[in-house]
Amino acid sequence: MSSSGGSDIVVDNDRNPELESPRPSKRQKTDTTTTATKDDSALPSRSKNIWIDDGNVILHAEQTLFRVHKSILSRESSVFDDMFKVPQPANEPTIEGCPVIWISDSDVEVECFLRALYDGWWYYGLTLAGMGAISAILRISRKYDCPNLCRRTMARLKLEYPKTLVEWDKSRDLWRGIAGSKGVDIQAVNLAAELSLDMILPAAYAACIETRSFDELLRGVELDGKVVNLSPDAKMACISGVQKFAQAQLEHTFKWLVGSPPSNPPVSAACSQPRTCLVLKLQTLAFFIGKTPKALAGLNTWDEWIEKDTFTSKLCSKCRAEAKDSFTEGRDALWTSLPSLFGLPTWEDMKDE
Ligand SMILES: [Zn+2]
Repeated sequence: MSSSGGSDIVVDNDRNPELESPRPSKRQKTDTTTTATKDDSALPSRSKNIWIDDGNVILHAEQTLFRVHKSILSRESSVFDDMFKVPQPANEPTIEGCPVIWISDSDVEVECFLRALYDGWWYYGLTLAGMGAISAILRISRKYDCPNLCRRTMARLKLEYPKTLVEWDKSRDLWRGIAGSKGVDIQAVNLAAELSLDMILPAAYAACIETRSFDELLRGVELDGKVVNLSPDAKMACISGVQKFAQAQLEHTFKWLVGSPPSNPPVSAACSQPRTCLVLKLQTLAFFIGKTPKALAGLNTWDEWIEKDTFTSKLCSKCRAEAKDSFTEGRDALWTSLPSLFGLPTWEDMKDE
């Protein structure tokens, strides 16, 4: 995939909040709003991006205040809708007349969630949101039961990690739903495991083993000064998956390379240069020795493969045509078997959302 640059956001606060009450309310005594303890030592600050002047409720996450509209949150979230139906106790502190609700979530993640609701240009604009923002939106929108935002955000993940080979081919050249980065496939695997997003896992695993070396799969990759690492279970699945993928691609996509013994026609019975085509076939086979991850080419398109391997294109026209047919049919079969290579249920048995 090509990278189009990240756009994960960082909360940028106004550090002079002018609170009417020094301590915002914790009025909603529910699991989603009051279960965590927090640092009382610093006053919260207004979010620079999400402080809507005519908003009528304030969300307080960590050290950040977000002024938004009850109606917008109620429309998107059954949890907020239920929360706003509970009458506010008398004498609760307010800020500029707005009730304050403390929520036990990361302020960076809440800001991503609110920007997805309020800032269409940020969410749908030309610069794609990064995996950090997409993960945050999914986590928060799931927690607060926002089915529409969940669905829209999942659709973006599925553009990069689809369940069909046709969509996989479309996703190879261009990032369409998420900004690309070196560790994005690893982040996608971890997110899918965390939130049980089973349907994106096969493609995310495949993207990991196609693009990352063994060392990177085991030790992680550096992204923005931090190491992005697979979970222990995901490492196991990837390492085992590399070996299974290498075997499966020879059974499917590259069946035409290993299907005939040397005394038989190299690929086609109508071969016009058997001796030459046999040598070319053996030279092609050598491509697969010791070149991980580059040699995991079983999901490449035929054109990508021809570009990668200099020998296949030199086969006689009959052998090349039959090789192409076998390759195309075989990669369909490889895609069908992809989940099993990583210990997952079949495509049909996986939960979609
Ligand atoms: Zn030939």
